[in-house]
Amino acid sequence: MSDLKTINVLNVPVNPFSMQETLDCLLARLEAGQKTWVITANAEIIMLGQKDSEYMHLLQKATMVLPDGAGTVWAGRTLGYDVPERVAGFDLFLELIKLSAVQHYKIFFLGSAPGVAEIAKKRCEAMAPGVEIVGIHDGYFTEAESKEIVAEINKSGANLLFAALGAPKQEFWLNRFADAINADLCMGIGGSFDVLAGKMERAPKWMQEASLEWFFRLYKQPSRFRRMLVLPCFVAKVLQRKYSSK
Ligand code: UDP
Repeated sequence: MSDLKTINVLNVPVNPFSMQETLDCLLARLEAGQKTWVITANAEIIMLGQKDSEYMHLLQKATMVLPDGAGTVWAGRTLGYDVPERVAGFDLFLELIKLSAVQHYKIFFLGSAPGVAEIAKKRCEAMAPGVEIVGIHDGYFTEAESKEIVAEINKSGANLLFAALGAPKQEFWLNRFADAINADLCMGIGGSFDVLAGKMERAPKWMQEASLEWFFRLYKQPSRFRRMLVLPCFVAKVLQRKYSSK
């Protein structure tokens, strides 16, 4: 955990930053050459931390944990904190792509099915001309290949590493190789390459604004139902925490 302002959401230290504050902070850290690990935490991730102490440890160890998802924003506000807005992982990823084009930072894409990150790269190059995506590796590799991938990332000279392996796999992987990876900023971005490559749809803006993105994902991927069963438990835990601290 860093010395940045945090709030406590079920023992997870969340940074209650707006998108702009997040970008300012990340730019300052990149310019200072400070290693930064970003996790964008939705309610599912926070609940995973309640069940898995090793995962909770990672959430407490990351440099920045941002309020991704309506659930995390709601929880922070319900617990009496000022949470300016949601900072969605996908939106932050796109902002960092644009920032990298301006600042000439190099980027490595790790994760998703073979070929998907290549399409995402093309979309990024069209969106942010001049952006340098210097390396790509898909997310389906063996345990033994991990070390070679780390060497590949380092050889590419990437300043930013985006890992799209899904939560919690990406956090466990990034933690395991944190000391060996030279990139200054590492961030897990779940299914973002799939969205960018058009393999997965993102909820329409009105649904995002109405805090219904979770419902859209469930509608598109009914297989997420089991994962989402934790959401009522999340609400109950937050309310219990709120009333037990009065
Ligand atoms: N993935 C991967 N390697 C794996 C498992 C998953 O690269 O071993 C990728 C998968 O192809 C998908 C992403 O990780 O692109 C997971 O997306 P999901 O939306 O499930 O992640 P979440 O945003 O829920 O963490």
